[in-house]
Amino acid sequence: MKRLEGQRALVTGGTRGIGRAIAARLADEGAEVFLTGRRRDQADEAAAAIDGGRSRVLGLALDLTDPGSVLACLGEAAVGGLDILVNNAGISRDGLLIRQKPEDWRAVMATNLDGLAACCRAAVRPMLRARYGRIVNMSSIVGLRGNAGQTAYAASKAGIVGFSRALAKELARRNITVNVVAPGLIETDMTRELPRRAREALQRAIPMARPGSAEEVAAAVAFLASPEASYITGAVLEITGGLAL
Ligand code: NAD
Repeated sequence: MKRLEGQRALVTGGTRGIGRAIAARLADEGAEVFLTGRRRDQADEAAAAIDGGRSRVLGLALDLTDPGSVLACLGEAAVGGLDILVNNAGISRDGLLIRQKPEDWRAVMATNLDGLAACCRAAVRPMLRARYGRIVNMSSIVGLRGNAGQTAYAASKAGIVGFSRALAKELARRNITVNVVAPGLIETDMTRELPRRAREALQRAIPMARPGSAEEVAAAVAFLASPEASYITGAVLEITGGLAL
């Protein structure tokens, strides 16, 4: 029997990058997976591409900055129960603080923190009823160590750590775990947008001397999302090839 057989999972931001790899990995391990995209057609397309139309992976529309959209999405995903929530979706708006526009700060917080908290709030109800749940939240090494030009992103990702540890304590007695993964430099569209010099500097600082892959992050998430990780909660797992910014 596969490790996640009979489990139902929701992965936010699953149309590309790390989220897509997580959705594929959870499905491979036997879970029924909902993946979200900001547009339903993009989510459906990614879902079909992952499982070849076998309907084990389904698309849902989600805009984290819209509380109504969060409730509708989680409501649909939780019909029949929700065992696993992976809060993967996130954005960055980089630039030095001195030049930062207030709307960029707000956009990062609204997506990375407000949206993530709203998803957890909506998912916890069915998990409490089932007395079982696995929540995995996507932070970043930048949230733990900071990075020049990324104050908003770092603050939001550090916020996710505090939020997750507090929620882990709220839910520990109900058999619901809340953990955080903090990747370093992972090869995706988000990091391809980094200026070449910033990328090279980052890569030099990685003891393993290479970026990680989305699949390497997905493997760690799948473990934390599995019944096997039953005594791990409030943990922050760094997936960085040894990088310490
Ligand atoms: P990506 O930009 O490829 O994917 C981000 C996903 O979030 C997309 O699917 C996008 O549609 C979704 N998203 C953005 N805004 C949204 C909104 N308002 N509502 C709903 N969905 C929204 O990024 P990625 O590199 O795959 O990163 C995924 C996660 O991993 C992010 O939280 C990111 O901060 C984190 N992370 C990435 C790296 C890296 O090196 N790539 C490192 C550390 C952490």
